[in-house]
Amino acid sequence: MEFSEKRQPLVVIVGAGFGGLRAAKRLAGGPVDVILVDQHNYHTFMPLLYQVARAALEPEEIAYPVRRVFRGERNINFRLARVEAVDLLRQRLLTSQGPITYDYLILAAGSATNFFGQADIQQHAYGLHDLKDAVALRNHLLTVFEQVTQETDPARRAALLTFVIVGGGPTGVELAGAYSELIQTVLAQEYPQLDFSQVRILLLEGGPALLAALPPDLREAALASLQAKGVEVRLRTAVASATADEVRLKDGTVIPTATLVWAAGVRAADLAATLGQATARGGRVRVRETLQLPTTPNVFVIGDIADLEEDGKALPQVAQVAMQQGTHAAANILHHLHGEPLVPFRYHDLGTMATIGRHAAVGQIGPWRLKGFIGWLMWLFIHIVQLIGVRNRLFVLINWLQDYLFYARSARLITTEDMQRLGEPNIREDSGEPIRAANEMAVQTGD
Ligand SMILES: Cc1cc2nc3c(=O)[nH]c(=O)nc-3n(C[C@H](O)[C@H](O)[C@H](O)COP(=O)(O)OP(=O)(O)OC[C@H]3O[C@@H](n4cnc5c(N)ncnc54)[C@H](O)[C@@H]3O)c2cc1C
Repeated sequence: MEFSEKRQPLVVIVGAGFGGLRAAKRLAGGPVDVILVDQHNYHTFMPLLYQVARAALEPEEIAYPVRRVFRGERNINFRLARVEAVDLLRQRLLTSQGPITYDYLILAAGSATNFFGQADIQQHAYGLHDLKDAVALRNHLLTVFEQVTQETDPARRAALLTFVIVGGGPTGVELAGAYSELIQTVLAQEYPQLDFSQVRILLLEGGPALLAALPPDLREAALASLQAKGVEVRLRTAVASATADEVRLKDGTVIPTATLVWAAGVRAADLAATLGQATARGGRVRVRETLQLPTTPNVFVIGDIADLEEDGKALPQVAQVAMQQGTHAAANILHHLHGEPLVPFRYHDLGTMATIGRHAAVGQIGPWRLKGFIGWLMWLFIHIVQLIGVRNRLFVLINWLQDYLFYARSARLITTEDMQRLGEPNIREDSGEPIRAANEMAVQTGD
């Protein structure tokens, strides 16, 4: 421990995401000691995960080491550990590295992809919720194109070239637009032997419109932009089941595909269930207006894992809510320490944006409605400013400029054993044995 010798109240924060980081920053230099716990040693900038999934950015360009954020802050200590459960009675966390006790707890463990209990979809779909997901999706996409070049069956080739994205929120919209551009521009140049007119990108949305949080004219603009990029958008369309080779819709339609991306739902992180508290939709933990657990005043729950209603509506699971709640929960802990009344949380909505490829974005920022190229410039500016670390901002900016000007991003590497799907068994069966036999013969004869 690097803390001061005098025992100060100990605040433990679970999660170095948007909410947890803000809470720790508010408490830095304050009259408390802080332990910030996360299962990763880095903070992930989720809004750009889809750019990793489309091979436009490298994982390290949207992640930042937590220790570096707090270097020089003597009252903030980081622990790399997975929290398995919260023991509210004994005021301690059970973690992969042993128990951690606390005086105050801020739970900011975020959310996870919600497959709504459908095991087949969970098994066959790609989620997009952390860096691991994004890298898996990137590897899959790049591997699929290599597979297509070696596929002789036309039906299978068509299935490989069909990409199904489920969920018409910002993640689904951004991914569909980004995939369309990557495939139709960059990959089309690199696979000149393939017939790219066969490529299909489908975006399926269960509701009547894309981007439900935006006003109708911006939703229409998003739909038009996607359609102009060749994305087939199907509204009021729900998935019934999935296998490795096809997606079956509730209306009975079968879509042969090797790629199903699930961006249709979010649920609270697993840790929420260990609290034994009242939960709302998606397993989110209900909190008081002060962000405290109703039963346990020294425990604050914030961000995606928390459920708080304002004006009869649950607050959205977005970064701004988490950041504002992080600062607020930390401030309320200081009020509590000083014997002052706690302050109810009010969300200041700064707006919503979604980008659709290289030239278009839609968004509402305060009273301003943005779309098209201006919207896209605004989107770029906001995301660059919010990234943590000068190096990351610089690298992302350079990559985007390179991508924008030349449609060129060199690092499209397949980095996993997905290579095995490219027919290694054939190599072993067909040519591996004779080659090994020939090699053995050569060794024996000394050739
Ligand atoms: C693909 C994608 C795109 C998005 N785009 C936008 C956008 O453009 N704009 C926007 O406002 N919002 C966006 N969001 C939503 C936004 O990212 C979340 O609302 C925000 O991250 C919530 O912050 P949080 O602090 O609650 O959780 P997170 O930022 O998710 O942080 C949770 C942290 O807790 C850690 N953790 C979880 N469980 C444990 C455990 N058991 N033990 C230890 N550590 C644990 C995780 O590792 C993580 O670091 C996007 C989300 C996704 C998935």
